[in-house]
Parts: sequence; structure tokens; C-alpha cells
Amino acid sequence: MIESRPIPAPSAGRPPVGRLVDLLLPPRCLACGVVVDAAQALCATCWSRLRVLGEPLCDRCGQPFEVDLGGGMVCGGCLKRSPSWDRARAALAYDDASRSLILGFKHGDRTESTAAFAAWMARAAPELLADCEVVVPVPLHWTRLWARRYNQAALLALDLARLADRRYAPTVLRRVRRTRPMGRLGAADRRRALRGAIATGRGAVRTVAGRRVLLVDDVLTSGATAGACVAALRKAGATAVDVLTLARVVHPVR
Ligand SMILES: [Zn+2]
Ligand SMILES: [Zn+2]
Repeated sequence: MIESRPIPAPSAGRPPVGRLVDLLLPPRCLACGVVVDAAQALCATCWSRLRVLGEPLCDRCGQPFEVDLGGGMVCGGCLKRSPSWDRARAALAYDDASRSLILGFKHGDRTESTAAFAAWMARAAPELLADCEVVVPVPLHWTRLWARRYNQAALLALDLARLADRRYAPTVLRRVRRTRPMGRLGAADRRRALRGAIATGRGAVRTVAGRRVLLVDDVLTSGATAGACVAALRKAGATAVDVLTLARVVHPVR
């Protein structure tokens, strides 16, 4: 099955043509394309448009707080309904600026952004990377993989596993049922739509049982997809599951 095959590493073995071209052409901003000093970077203007997330934030979901109330604080949303994961972190707020960057990555073959995105994610959550033993991407259904040719979550997960020197396990989770785009659905409807859509692959128990797992995706919106993956990972025996995404929806302070 296509989905369960490891995504070839962009820098493993034979360097892809893109990397060779990088050596010949001046590096360009990943977002707007102006010439910049270093490869895998944004220009100052594009960088200033992004909202980089950091402390203080909710210890469980990573939602930023306006005021620093000390470490280990949990937001109202998580107090009301405890998330299924242990900790979630993201590098960026999901807004107009990060959305266009991510859409290019997702649908526009801009896979050269992977290294920069993974580095931002690693910087946003060094403790999550240090604590995990296995890195697992949120899976795409094979029909989507066919159309898009790569799973952006898997590219990020692979780079993160390399950075942290952890095991990359792309076949642990499988999307067994295709779900419709869930853009307009609320959190409860998203959870319902995902019921039974994500399962574990062969050998999943051997890979994750008794281990701490880092689940990787590009965006955390309602958390329904991540939640379905976390449930499957826990069922396979994972002792802890943290979630790391490139961007997350930031709610107004509650
Ligand atoms: Zn730019
Ligand atoms: Zn929270």
C-alpha cells in the first residue's frame, strides 16, 4: 500500500534536482521569492508577518497566554475538556501569513521549505523532541497521497526525527477511510467524521507500545484529527503522546 511506504528523505542518498539547483541559484525567500542571504529562510518582511509562538502558554494544548502566570498553567478550554494528548506545541499561529506559507507547502510542491519548518518546530518544543522515542506523522489517505505525491506531515516528521536522532515511524498510523474536507465543521462534527478513519498499521504495537510518541502534523485546528491519531496510538500501547505542528489556531484568550 502506497501510504505505508516510507517517504523518501529529501536529502538521503541521491540529492534531488532541487538541491542541486539550490547550489547554483541565489537562495530565495520561502514565502515571497525575493533573494535572501541564506537558503531555507524567509526575508525580513515575511518573517515579521508571522506570529511565532512561545512561553507563556498552556502546558497541555500550547495555546499562548497573554500574561505569564508561571510554568505548568493550563487554559480554561483544557480544564473544561482535557485533551487526549499529553502536550501540544506549535511553531506558529495559524493566520493569513502562515496559511499561505503552508498551502504552498501542502499543494504547491514547495517541499524545499521542509528543513526550515522542521527547524522552527524543533525550536518551539525542544522538550517534546527530547522526551519522545518515536516520531509518527499524521497519515494521509492514499488517494490524497496519490494526488499530492507527498504527505507534508511525513516530510516534517522525518526531518524532526533526524534532528532529534529518534526513530521515524511513518507506517504506524493509517487513514483507512477518506474524510471530506472539514473546513466548515465544528469540533464535535469533525470528531464524528473521523470515527473509524484512522487505524494502526501492521507492527504498530511493536513500534509504539511502552514508548513515548511524538505525533507530527502541519496544522492543529480543532484537534479532531490529532485526537483520533492519539487514540489509535494509545490503543497500540503508547505511554505518552505529544503533538507537534508547524502552526495552530490561536483562540482569543478565555
Ligand atoms: Zn519574503
Ligand atoms: Zn490548553
